[in-house]
Amino acid sequence: MTRLLTRSATGQEITVYTTFSSGPRRPDDLDGPEQFHVVLLDNGRSGMLGGEFQDMLRCIRCSACMNHCPVYGAIGGHAYGWVYPGPMGSVLTPQLIGIDAAGQLPNASTFCGRCEEVCPMHIPLPKMMRHWREREFERHLSPAAVRFGLGAWVFFAKRPQLYRIAAGFGAWLLRRLGGRKGRIKRLPLAGGWTAWRDLPVPQGRTFQQQWATRQGARP
Ligand code: SF4
Repeated sequence: MTRLLTRSATGQEITVYTTFSSGPRRPDDLDGPEQFHVVLLDNGRSGMLGGEFQDMLRCIRCSACMNHCPVYGAIGGHAYGWVYPGPMGSVLTPQLIGIDAAGQLPNASTFCGRCEEVCPMHIPLPKMMRHWREREFERHLSPAAVRFGLGAWVFFAKRPQLYRIAAGFGAWLLRRLGGRKGRIKRLPLAGGWTAWRDLPVPQGRTFQQQWATRQGARP
C-alpha cells in the first residue's frame, strides 16, 4: 500500500518517511510509550457506509486524481475552500460539510473521466459527483447565479449566430482586459476564481471559428 500510494502520487519508488505505530511498550521492550491512544474522528464518514458514496472510503489520499484533473490544474488547491481539493475533495467535502455548503465542488467538473482512470483504487469519482449534482437539484439548492448563467447560455445556444457573435465579442473583451500579460486579476462575476488565481484570457480563435475553417477545408 505504501508503494502504491507514492507511485500514484509523485511517481516515487517509496515515500521519504513512513511512520509505524506499534502500540504501547511490551514487557521485554527496551523503551516505548506506556499507553497508546488512538482517536478516530468519524466526521460523517460512517454515514457513507452502504450508500452511493461508500466507494469513497477506499481513498488512500494519493492525489493521482488531482494531478490529472484539468480543473485542479487551472484553479489550484485553495480554491476548493476545504482540506481536500481536487476530484476526491469534490466528492468527500459535501459529505463532511453538506451539499448546501459545498454544492459548487461537484459542479466544478468537466466529467472528462481522467480522475477515475488514474485512481489506483478504481473509485468512480465522476459517477459520485453526478450523484451530488442530483441531490443538489432535488433540493433546489442551485444558486440563483448558476441558474441565471445556464439560462443565458441556453438562450445563446439556441441561436448559433448570436452565440458566435457573443463568443467572439467575449473573447475579444477578455483579451483587452488581460492586456499584454494575458491575465486578469479581478473580474466581476469571476471572484471565485480570481480570489486565488489570475484568470488567463482566451487564446486563439473561438471553437466556432475553428470549426468553420475545418468544415471549409473539407473536400
Ligand atoms: S480518489 Fe483515488 S486517485 Fe484520488 S486521492 Fe483517492 S485514491 Fe488517490
